[in-house]
Amino acid sequence: MINIIFIAPPAAGKGTYSKKLEEEFGYSHLATGDMLREAINLKTPLGLKVKDIMAQGKLVDDEIVINLIAEKLGQDGKPFILDGFPRTLNQAEKLDVLLEKLAKDYIVINLDVKKEVALARIQGRLMCSCGKSYNALIPSLKPKREGICDVCGQKLIKREDDNEESFLIRYNSYLEKTEPIINYYSQNQKLVKIDASRSAQEVYQDLIEVIKW
Ligand code: AMP
Repeated sequence: MINIIFIAPPAAGKGTYSKKLEEEFGYSHLATGDMLREAINLKTPLGLKVKDIMAQGKLVDDEIVINLIAEKLGQDGKPFILDGFPRTLNQAEKLDVLLEKLAKDYIVINLDVKKEVALARIQGRLMCSCGKSYNALIPSLKPKREGICDVCGQKLIKREDDNEESFLIRYNSYLEKTEPIINYYSQNQKLVKIDASRSAQEVYQDLIEVIKW
């Protein structure tokens, strides 16, 4: 399978589709946001350093996330999905160096979603610490039992940065710092754009077509 890099604003569905692709095709799902949240839960020195920055919706230092990815990339020999990395041009350039060393090819998928749709999704989004995410306001993405993860039975939680104020900071940082990466990848002919404002089923169908193509 082809390696995937997702570039998308908050609440475009990167995490949800990554999990589905992981389950169906055996991808390794590398999500910098999940790695950082785990560090926060475990109260590691890294977690303590990034906790407030993340809660406010700001980006953490490039060096931190580049190191996290460099440690994991290509380690298990599976095809990978990068979810939430790269988010700056500097990260994209450093990633290219890493991928060249590992001789890994990839496709970049831009999940495009309108700001109002993303904001509405944030308001119902619930997460499990096992990584599965749900949406209490979207019937097809609700858990079977209210507030409980279908997969592992743990209690679902709302992300600390899933509020309107942090969302706006994250969305603006996407426009300012992450969208320029789209140009970078379109020059390399590696970019595919998918309209992610549609239903999860429709978007997932398109994704499967793209990766099998
Ligand atoms: P996510 O789970 O992808 O929405 O990421 C949640 C938060 O983690 C972001 O708002 C940032 O604070 C931090 N983060 C995740 N990935 C990166 C990255 N590649 N660069 C900088 N900060 C990141």
